[in-house]
Amino acid sequence: MKITILTLFPEMVEPFFLSSIMKRAVEKGIIEYRIINFRDWAEGVHAKADDIPYGGGAGMVIMPGPISKALDSIEAKGKRVVFPTPSGKLLTEDYAISLSKEDELVFICGHYEGLDQRVIDEYVTDEISIGDYVLSSGETATIVVIDALYRLIDGVIASESLEDESFSKGLLEYPQYTRPYRYCTKSVPDVLLTGHHSHITQWRCDQRLAKTMQNRPDLLSDASLSIEERKRLLSILDQDKRTCQRWILSEL
Ligand code: SAM
Repeated sequence: MKITILTLFPEMVEPFFLSSIMKRAVEKGIIEYRIINFRDWAEGVHAKADDIPYGGGAGMVIMPGPISKALDSIEAKGKRVVFPTPSGKLLTEDYAISLSKEDELVFICGHYEGLDQRVIDEYVTDEISIGDYVLSSGETATIVVIDALYRLIDGVIASESLEDESFSKGLLEYPQYTRPYRYCTKSVPDVLLTGHHSHITQWRCDQRLAKTMQNRPDLLSDASLSIEERKRLLSILDQDKRTCQRWILSEL
């Protein structure tokens, strides 16, 4: 996949591509990236790329001129151009999956109060929010979106690692443990040491259901649960009446 990032702060974005799993994906040629500072298209001695908002109000807005020229220089029209913004559609695992299937993506990093609407109207195909809160920069949001999508591309990480992860089948992940067996006063659940594959699978399935019910009951209505999983959910509900009451009350 080819990723192009347009930003006024390349130094915020570059380190992400130089470490860990992303670094390996770049070395393997799975990800090709370029970072463009669109201030390079700004004019005047101060290379101004932002200005005060029409109609008044606090802060500065990214001007349309320099960013449009930068977008034209990479022939962005016709490509999937992502603008992370709090007023975009919420990023979900399904959304990340759809983005991971593209051969090329362009990201515009907003900053200050945001981006002139005319640039959004002209070039942007996807306005994406990473959550209901406001960050100070689009660079961090862009990294979040890229991080969520690139790990889903074949060859980036082992496909088994993606299987039981949070949001697969609409549930959260089960708890994970590693050595040592005893840490401070706590031990690893004994079932994980039995070597009994079906018992471990059952325990993990119960943990996923219980965790989802506790932390994200809103996911359960869309989860693709088998009859067996529904029955397990009922028995977990019986075992933990207080969680059940909280869930029912929150649904009222
Ligand atoms: N004035 C904007 C508003 O109220 O929606 C907020 C601008 S924010 C201070 C600066 C930049 O951070 C935005 O242009 C956007 O690129 C990025 N940003 C902030 N919060 C975000 C979020 N929840 N999701 C995606 N991008 C976000």
